[in-house]
Amino acid sequence: MKRKDFFKGAALGIISLPFAIKTCGGQNVAQDTSTNISGKKYKWKMVTTWPPNFPVLGEGCSLFAKWVKEMSGGRMEIKVYGGGELVPALEVFNAVSSGAAECGSGCAYYWAGIEPSAQFFASVPFGMNAQQMNAWILSGGGLELWEELYDKHNLIPMPGGNTGVQMGGWFRREINSMADLQGLKMRMPGLGGKVLAKAGGNPILIAGGELYTSLERGVIDATEWIGPYHDYIMGFHQIADYYYSPGWHEAGTTLEMLFNKEKFNALPEDLQAIMRAAAARLNIWMLSEFEAKNTLYLKKILAESKVQIREFPQDVLNQLKQYTDEVVAEVVASDDFAKKAYESYNNFRNEAVEWSKLTEKVFYNKIQM
Ligand code: CA
Repeated sequence: MKRKDFFKGAALGIISLPFAIKTCGGQNVAQDTSTNISGKKYKWKMVTTWPPNFPVLGEGCSLFAKWVKEMSGGRMEIKVYGGGELVPALEVFNAVSSGAAECGSGCAYYWAGIEPSAQFFASVPFGMNAQQMNAWILSGGGLELWEELYDKHNLIPMPGGNTGVQMGGWFRREINSMADLQGLKMRMPGLGGKVLAKAGGNPILIAGGELYTSLERGVIDATEWIGPYHDYIMGFHQIADYYYSPGWHEAGTTLEMLFNKEKFNALPEDLQAIMRAAAARLNIWMLSEFEAKNTLYLKKILAESKVQIREFPQDVLNQLKQYTDEVVAEVVASDDFAKKAYESYNNFRNEAVEWSKLTEKVFYNKIQM
């Protein structure tokens, strides 16, 4: 078809559709999409890894429940539990898998001990940003792999938000070279922590509630958290002098919704569709909320404290990237599925980087300087 004809046809298609429906022998030829909606009511439990009502992440779960209730006309009610309220935060995966709760919210890197490749569906240091993660998961084959990985655990995963690029963390002293990472006691979970250990640092896992005091008393020298909004609430700007960018360890962490597969598949089709629609809405809501709140709270941090913003030196980042490659290679070597999942992740990343070099990168460098 010639290009001109294509556009002509496309335009006709849009305009003529309603007439075709009305005038075909006086009958409605539009497909009947009505279903028998039963009045059966469902009451589900959602367990989460977040503290109760945790800003954005916990709030998003409550919104998910609200949207599902609205869309289902009240047929589906979901009660949301914060971490520790029904099951401990890190038991969410098992609780949803067993059916103790019908659904859950968390982040796939929490399940690295159960499935090493789960963390590729959350965040890889020096990996993809939010836009690229959504593209890989939703349009690049990532979700199919994620579903395959969780299937044997009786789970259905869906992307349920993204933090965007995080900050590199709060430091009580400057990082000018790799030597400054030697012996650095820093709260740094997951793959990022393993990278820090290779760099001679001392990654320490501390619960959120104890982080402020630990940093204030010098039990740790540094901590990563999320970004300006959550970091401001934690008060780190009151006790650390340097706020580093970028969050090389979490360039765009995907949050996840988990559904018990049997319970989900037993739902009427319209309720399944409602769940998927609500998860998709949550996915974009969280990213938008992070972007808007971080923008606002960065300004507040700068206005209300003497914190100095720093960027990690390029040679430090280059070295950390090398250690990341080693750490990822170890994960890939430990597990067959991890090899398959990372191959898909990495191929997509490499191609997306070429595209963004030509577009986003030029845009940021030359337009949004
Ligand atoms: Ca973080």
